Amino acid sequence: MKFLKRSDRNRRVVLVGTGFVGMSFAYSLLNQGGTEELVLIDRDVEKAEGEAMDLSHGVAYAPSPIKIWAGDYSDCKEADIIVITAGAAQAPGETRLDLTAKNTKIMKGITEEIMASGFDGVIVVASNPVDIMTYVVQKVSGLDRSRVIGSGTTLDTARLRYMLAQYMNIDARNVHAYIMAEHGDSSFVPWSHASVGSKSLLELLEDKGNLDMDELQSIYENVRDAAYDIIQRKKATYYGIGMALTRLVKAIMNDENSIFTVSAPLSGEYGAEDIYIGAPAIIGRNGVREVLDIKLTGKDAEKMSSSIATLQMMVKESVEPHL
Ligand code: NAD
Repeated sequence: MKFLKRSDRNRRVVLVGTGFVGMSFAYSLLNQGGTEELVLIDRDVEKAEGEAMDLSHGVAYAPSPIKIWAGDYSDCKEADIIVITAGAAQAPGETRLDLTAKNTKIMKGITEEIMASGFDGVIVVASNPVDIMTYVVQKVSGLDRSRVIGSGTTLDTARLRYMLAQYMNIDARNVHAYIMAEHGDSSFVPWSHASVGSKSLLELLEDKGNLDMDELQSIYENVRDAAYDIIQRKKATYYGIGMALTRLVKAIMNDENSIFTVSAPLSGEYGAEDIYIGAPAIIGRNGVREVLDIKLTGKDAEKMSSSIATLQMMVKESVEPHL
């Protein structure tokens, strides 16, 4: 791919979906600098326009110059990265499968418009159920699987690292622990692969006489249920995912080859193919450079297989009929 190597072109990010999640991402991206053009697209054109005006009024205080405007899909042609946060929320009484079918149709329409522009970059998807929506966008776009990424369990992993950091009183940036599998109820933590600095987290706690698997399980449950707990109080979650998306976009833009638990395309890793699921992957200029096939054993291996089976069932029942 030649994008980002062209010095005659600005670094352009297009955001599709200017709701809570999309605008939290846009605000965080603006504040971190480094992007030269940010285009906002939404089905509600006035909303996108208002957001572009409001954000632009902060440009004078941003760390680097940036042009922001409400655009349309023709702006995707020159984009390096497109972030999709559009979608319907779960309505009362609606099942997860119903929502999946509804958002599949929305993703299909958006992706067709993006590809009609001649877009040739990387797409990052955050719309839920994110592993499935990423699969839909890849199938409809026909882009190489490495160039379509979902936010996966990046937010869940950030929540886990924050909570473990609180528990151990150690900086979250030195806690290397991952939430893997579906961004949803079938996620899990492979504890034997968690470390603090270079020391195994389980060993560290054991050495201190503090190893309590029930306590670790309850930290995991707090992470798993965090979205429900926040939604109950403020109806939506958006700042954390906004920052996670900014981090991912910067890793792509700057060709960082950083590791994130994105919705990654499996090609034999974890014994599965043709599915996207939260797994650690190396992220650089062209999207997913490599999916890390962590050696899972016992219950962890079972949990990964069962989460894969859940996603495969959702694809079969709620996606395939609408593609
Ligand atoms: P929201 O309702 O505030 O925003 C959704 C936006 O999408 C709206 O502005 C709407 O007009 C727009 N939209 C809908 N259909 C569209 C279409 N066809 N084309 C263009 N725009 C369209 O919702 P939100 O709180 O911002 O959440 C957005 C999505 O992000 C949801 O699917 C939510 O579940 C998901 N989410 C994901 C994570 C994660 O970790 N991946 C975390 C939080 C929320």
